[in-house]
Amino acid sequence: MTPPTVPAGARIDLHAHSTASDGTLTPAELVRAAADAGLDVVALTDHDTTAGWDAAVRALPPGLSLVRGAELSCRWHGAEPALPLHLLAYLFDPAEPELVAELARVRQARRERGERIVRLLQADGIDVSWSEILAGAAGGTVGRPHIAAALIRAGLVATTTEAFGPDWLGERYRLPKEDIDVFRAVALVRAAGGVPVFAHPRASRRGRIVPDELIADLAAVGLAGLEADHEDHTPAERAHVRGLAAELGLLVTGSSDFHGSHKTVRLGAHTTTPWAYERIVAEAAGVTPVIST
Ligand code: AMP
Ligand code: FE
Ligand code: FE
Ligand code: ZN
Repeated sequence: MTPPTVPAGARIDLHAHSTASDGTLTPAELVRAAADAGLDVVALTDHDTTAGWDAAVRALPPGLSLVRGAELSCRWHGAEPALPLHLLAYLFDPAEPELVAELARVRQARRERGERIVRLLQADGIDVSWSEILAGAAGGTVGRPHIAAALIRAGLVATTTEAFGPDWLGERYRLPKEDIDVFRAVALVRAAGGVPVFAHPRASRRGRIVPDELIADLAAVGLAGLEADHEDHTPAERAHVRGLAAELGLLVTGSSDFHGSHKTVRLGAHTTTPWAYERIVAEAAGVTPVIST
């Protein structure tokens, strides 16, 4: 495929969520917001789903390119207990049966975990209802931010950040979900023609992080890149990720991980170089970026 030509100063944000998962803008609103934010390229990367792709394509404003992607919930079983991690997958074939089945399984596991968290809360006398949380997710991939929203509506916490604190979803009412083995995820994404990039690999403030050895092992089996510029990375963590990427021959991305009002970060807060973007597109064999003229 001919790589797209993007201008040298192009603003490229390769990680954003919509109401198809735990963002608060619909896919159509998201692409319009991306254009308003002055972006030239935006990636739609909802958790474990491609459900927002078509609506985003239909609403794509002129001059904006859309990278269709997803953020896969993965787990590495080389630690005890196993470590959760996120894999961004770009431009894969959304009809590849094994990947489709795995994403459906993870979404179902998310619903089961959400319901179990709600039962734990209810057992402590906290007045939240699963049906209300499901309604809040409106058919999108259910995540803890939807439970956080219910805690806010119930007046129990003031912000999503507080809901992710140790007294709530961050620890006391935290339950693991059945994620995709990370090696299987890399293989499935590549088999579907997609390009896998490790999301916020060093974000220690989110919890335990994986060792560099795992990243080297993943690079050897198809991992394409590492997200370095992300609001959850300190400057030292960003520098470490860059160094590791250089050592392993991986590309480096930067992105906002925009979630609408579920987070404070703005679209385009961090960006990816045209060079890295073009490399992702050149490696992809699933779907192409959608360029609106
Ligand atoms: P889940 O995918 O259900 O495990 O929930 C994780 C999601 O919650 C992430 O994708 C973020 O969107 C959000 N999240 C995680 N930590 C925080 C935090 N401290 N504050 C706000 N949102 C968070
Ligand atoms: Fe999220
Ligand atoms: Fe993530
Ligand atoms: Zn994300």
